[in-house]
Amino acid sequence: MSQTDLLHRFLFEEYEVRGELVQLQQTYADILRNHQYPPAIEQLMGELLVATSLLTATIKFDGHINVQLQGDGDVTMATINGDNKQALRGVARYKQAPADDATLQQMIGKGFLLITITPNEGERYQGVVELTGDTLAQCLENYFEQSEQLGTKLILKTGLENGQKQAAGLLLQKLPAASESHEQDFIHVTTLAETVKAEELFSLDAESLLYRLYHQEKVRLFEPQNVTFVCGCSRSKCESALISVAKEELLDIIKEKGEIAMDCEYCQSSYHFDAVDVEGLFTAENRVETDENIKH
Ligand SMILES: [Zn+2]
Repeated sequence: MSQTDLLHRFLFEEYEVRGELVQLQQTYADILRNHQYPPAIEQLMGELLVATSLLTATIKFDGHINVQLQGDGDVTMATINGDNKQALRGVARYKQAPADDATLQQMIGKGFLLITITPNEGERYQGVVELTGDTLAQCLENYFEQSEQLGTKLILKTGLENGQKQAAGLLLQKLPAASESHEQDFIHVTTLAETVKAEELFSLDAESLLYRLYHQEKVRLFEPQNVTFVCGCSRSKCESALISVAKEELLDIIKEKGEIAMDCEYCQSSYHFDAVDVEGLFTAENRVETDENIKH
């Protein structure tokens, strides 16, 4: 198992505080690959990626999560999709490049953060929070305070280490049933967390990092979970979308443009269909096969 691209959960046994640590290198590289984002947006996507991974791990669910920033600024939309297996993908849309040192508000403008959780079974849940605070971390801390009444501390960092782009973060959260008497303990562990340096977050393994921050506390570290980039787009999903359109309409497009090209916004894969492909789609056997693909 590689040392990066892991999510670790831990628990302060005596404090009623739980924590998570995530360190991403390959997943971050995969999310940025094929997109020529300006530096400020690369950084934003790194923070959003780390935040989504940490957020997913706080929620007990089997299903999908979407964390999305929307606004009227230079960056109109930035989103990460993930699931409980920590398979993530994401994309940002922007009108023009923000300044390299732009704050979250300067990039997104007037906007909000939208969190959507879609369990495989049960009701979809959606939470919205206005963009208050200058950083994504502050914004999410406000979200937890407002929607869950849970004291939460988030540290999100992006940067370079050994020539590789890195995105990493820490989350500390009071347990839902934590008593008032643990307020000071929470302040204590979050104050220590704030002393963490970016290069420590990027380069130390979980045990060393937790020892560096909390060698005087009793910390239980659980088995890590792998974090990966999974786009999920495929030719058969494109085919499923195409057969819902009238065949004549598709053939008209091909007559006009030479082909139908479908580009994945997330990974920039391109799927091409010509007249023969379209005829094939609408034969009886293929229709059944494509329907099967939708189910799986
Ligand atoms: Zn894709």
